[in-house]
Order: sequence, then C-alpha cells, then structure tokens
Amino acid sequence: MSDLDDNCLFCKIIKGEIPSYKLFENDDVYAFLDISHVNPGHTLLVPKKHIVNLFDYSQE
Ligand SMILES: [Zn+2]
Repeated sequence: MSDLDDNCLFCKIIKGEIPSYKLFENDDVYAFLDISHVNPGHTLLVPKKHIVNLFDYSQE
C-alpha cells in the first residue's frame, strides 16, 4: 500500500507491523482498540491512507 508512511505509527498498525486489536476493517478504514485505554472500549478509526491533516482527506 503506497498510501502509507513507513515512519507513521498508525500506518504501521494498518500494515500489521505493530500489533493491534482489530474491531473492523474494510478497504478504506481500520478500527482498533486504543492501547492507552482512555475509557474501556475506546476505539480508534483510521483511514487506510497516510493523512496528516483531516481536511486533506476526501469528503467521501
Ligand atoms: Zn500514517
């Protein structure tokens, strides 16, 4: 996946280089439990594309 950044924590999670507890995945997004446990079940949903600024991501 060329849209991912080798030095980015979230991209490494998407690529499976960093283990994570996957809750959901499709072609566009990946959802996993937050290891910092802000609250039980706290979930992070990230696009499968390295995006620095949310406004750079397509509205779709
Ligand atoms: Zn990234």
